[in-house]
Amino acid sequence: MNLQIDLPTPDRVLAIGAHPDDIEFGCGATLAKWADAGAEVHLFVCTDGSKGSWDPEADPAALVATRENEQLAAAKVLGAAGVRFLRRVDGELVNDETARSAVSLAIRDLTPDVVLSHDPWLPYRIHPDHQAAGHLAVHAIVAARDPHFFPEHGLKPHRPGTLLLFEPARVDHLERVSDQLARKTDALLAHRSQWRSTMGIDDTDAEQRDAQRAAFVAGVHDEARTAGLRAGLRAAEAFARIDAV
Ligand SMILES: [Zn+2]
Repeated sequence: MNLQIDLPTPDRVLAIGAHPDDIEFGCGATLAKWADAGAEVHLFVCTDGSKGSWDPEADPAALVATRENEQLAAAKVLGAAGVRFLRRVDGELVNDETARSAVSLAIRDLTPDVVLSHDPWLPYRIHPDHQAAGHLAVHAIVAARDPHFFPEHGLKPHRPGTLLLFEPARVDHLERVSDQLARKTDALLAHRSQWRSTMGIDDTDAEQRDAQRAAFVAGVHDEARTAGLRAGLRAAEAFARIDAV
């Protein structure tokens, strides 16, 4: 399979993730690189993250507010221009007509050259929201480009040039990253409510916390190094690429 490296810096970018933090995991360094080079980067988060805690006593409403604030802080670290929240209940995201309308409205409104999202075709994926968000992004692109979908938007159809799917089932595109890995890990660490459940960092124990945080950061660097090895790059984020969507 032909492996391509580095798109030209896009003017506008829209990254669509299921939960607060998914976008940072999937393509945070690439977004930081493009933002630094002058791209207008927008994030679209589909669910409210209300189940993102291992604490059975956690108050879901408080968690939703915390996670939106964390997402806004993470977006700032990446240099993003803004974040839109669909606020579907965590774990219950479905690719329905209302959700497709909301995402295709964002595509028509923001007119991104590049859209990024979860690869919905990754086999043996456990979390249903990741698969639903990927399908939603793909279907919303089709709706955004064709004028007979959602004419009530009152906006011109828009066709992004490229779709990049992260956590890809097949890798045919790499974005070279290096300096931006620190921004990726800083953005991820802005999701402090997720330290324990997704990053393996026990926030209640200062001694353990520092070592575990260092291990998490090292893991992100390792993943980028491994992705880069495919093409002899120092570090990269990996994608499945679809052009002329
Ligand atoms: Zn997620």
